[in-house]
Amino acid sequence: RLARILVSACLMGDPVRYDAGHKWLADERLRHWQQQRRLVVVCPEVAGGLPTPRPAAEIQQASGADVLAGEARILDADHNDPTEAFVRGAHLALEAANRHGCRLALLTEGSPSCGSGSIYSGDFSGVRQQGEGVTAALLRAHGIEVFSQQQLDALERRLAELDRASQ
Ligand code: SF4
Repeated sequence: RLARILVSACLMGDPVRYDAGHKWLADERLRHWQQQRRLVVVCPEVAGGLPTPRPAAEIQQASGADVLAGEARILDADHNDPTEAFVRGAHLALEAANRHGCRLALLTEGSPSCGSGSIYSGDFSGVRQQGEGVTAALLRAHGIEVFSQQQLDALERRLAELDRASQ
């Protein structure tokens, strides 16, 4: 069976971002994988119950693993605390990955949910720092390998390895 990939919905062009925009990733490989029915598309924040559009949100001076451990919160630009919805969405994304047997994920860099290498610092200043979002942290804690849209080549290689291993 072909290896499957959990994918951020905004990379597929779904207008689910906080500003109701998307981050459509125009790459042939993604289209090909979709035709092969490898892709499981999810937006953790929408799955967690947040509306679109919604205020921008940032993890407060911490990373996704800290939020999962209950040691950090997420605040949005209107000073609301949507932490619970982010955590709920992360668990729903993990459930979807497990249900469909995804061992790989392709997630949008920089997001407080999907970021896998960098996230915003928490003071809405536009400064990014090293870290990962809540969903990326939860998936990794359960052994799912997470790639960003800048790591498609590496993802393609891992996909081929998993396909070969399952033959
Ligand atoms: Fe995209 Fe993830 Fe943000 Fe949803 S939560 S809009 S999938 S980056």
